[in-house]
Amino acid sequence: MGSISRHLERVKAVDHFRLTIGHEVLGVYLHWLGLAADEACTICGHARMDGDHLLECTGLDEYPTDDIVSRYWEAWRQMVKKPSMSVG
Ligand SMILES: [Zn+2]
Repeated sequence: MGSISRHLERVKAVDHFRLTIGHEVLGVYLHWLGLAADEACTICGHARMDGDHLLECTGLDEYPTDDIVSRYWEAWRQMVKKPSMSVG
């Protein structure tokens, strides 16, 4: 009975992240994307980057889908270092 309940614990952890940290962080992230006037995923070219795509993005496959924090930061890193984001 161990593995199923452990899986449920993980699911709950992701839910918790989405409801608390995820809500704020993704809000800032999406706002930042709004400033960039481009909601497409710069990592894989998907038409729309949002909280759900963060879990589906093929460019983030090296990070497990239950590790949304790592996926988020990797996505952020890759977007920030994108050359088309001219800062000055
Ligand atoms: Zn993507």
